[in-house]
Amino acid sequence: MALTGIEIFKLLPKTNCGECGVPTCLAFAMSLATGKTELTKCPHVSEEAKSKLSEAAAPPILPVTIGVGDKALKVGGDTVMFRHEKRFENPPGLAILISDKMADSEVDARLKKVKDLTYERVGLTLSANMVALKAETGDAAKFAALAGKVKASSDANIILMSDKTDVLAAGLKACADRKPLLYAATKDNADAVAALAKESGCAIAAKAAGIEELAALTGKLTAAGLKNIVIDSGARAVRKALEDQIIIRSAALNKKFRPLGYPTIVFPCEMTDNPMKEALIAAMFIAKYAGIIVLSDFHGESLFPLLVARLNIYTDPQRPLATKQGIYEINNPNENSPLMVTSNFSLTYFIVSGEIENSKVPSYLYVKDTEGLSVMTSWAAGKFSADIIGPAILKSGITDKIKHHKLIIPGYIAAESGGLEEEMPGWEILIGPRDAANLTPYLKAWKA
Ligand code: SF4
Repeated sequence: MALTGIEIFKLLPKTNCGECGVPTCLAFAMSLATGKTELTKCPHVSEEAKSKLSEAAAPPILPVTIGVGDKALKVGGDTVMFRHEKRFENPPGLAILISDKMADSEVDARLKKVKDLTYERVGLTLSANMVALKAETGDAAKFAALAGKVKASSDANIILMSDKTDVLAAGLKACADRKPLLYAATKDNADAVAALAKESGCAIAAKAAGIEELAALTGKLTAAGLKNIVIDSGARAVRKALEDQIIIRSAALNKKFRPLGYPTIVFPCEMTDNPMKEALIAAMFIAKYAGIIVLSDFHGESLFPLLVARLNIYTDPQRPLATKQGIYEINNPNENSPLMVTSNFSLTYFIVSGEIENSKVPSYLYVKDTEGLSVMTSWAAGKFSADIIGPAILKSGITDKIKHHKLIIPGYIAAESGGLEEEMPGWEILIGPRDAANLTPYLKAWKA
């Protein structure tokens, strides 16, 4: 059972030093009990207390890692029912199904899709780096060969799927060092699959026919010493599967019911034969709590919207997407190219840089860190004013790149031009258009 705030408080140093970010140990204990902070934020907690608090400090849905290295997938770790309460922690993995019944050419084509369907958006790379290998032939050697091939030719994280323990073991042997997810332990094979997971250090999926059976099964797995567990309630009808997602999340968060406090795996690929409907079901599970979503195939036209939906839902609602501060070179600028400045709200940056790119005019764009706020908002908040922009540009190194001293500012902050001339002696401040859509004619008329 999780500890209460008062029980946690008794184990804290009670010095109220405030180093954890809240003024008192009691406030910290209450935040810890509700999963709103992490124990590591208190640097003074004793080792003895740490071990006692480990259960209370663990998020109500335990994080699970599948794979190794930089590309490993971490799922779970969530602490809230609704995104606006804090944020959703780890975006779900999107996996493509590959069967050992498929021809080599089809397997290759699917692995190529995993590699190629990668998108750049707001400065981030979006991709679905996961494959679910399904043993359908029952042939252990064939499944091992598939796992070996995927391991050799792809860096995707792997799910091994078989209801036969010997087939699962053969697949695992071929790619154990990639730490695949073993799918799945059931009430009939739990001991044998748990032994595989324990020996290999891999995460294990628990699959049951309903939530009660699932809770009993995870209890058995944890009693065997396993913590890296992903759960599947077994529902394949859309409505039932959605209900189960909500019940599982609510039981783990609101009732602190540990046996269901694990990330889930769902199978839209087993819920419909219609690819568009499958994408819609997957979108629903991105919003409603899946840890891993297995798709029958990847299609650019549906995968891209799913990746964007995932990005949007898993960004922190309290922190806008921001672009890194710095000088951005667009269309191969030279020493006579215009210099513009804008805020680092990602959308602003991508609209402005996109318009500059379309104009084909070689240009420099200086992006100022405004904590992710747009031009107007950051200006109104005093984060995009002359005394902030001027020194930042002078320190940016842009004067090594251009020989003129002209700066184009967004039309919305025209009022800062006088202040900027004071902050940047010898510079000419030009008022650019208010709307990025008017940048092309403005830039085409540019003369250094
Ligand atoms: S850092 Fe630790 S000791 Fe200091 S106030 Fe926070 S909980 Fe208390």
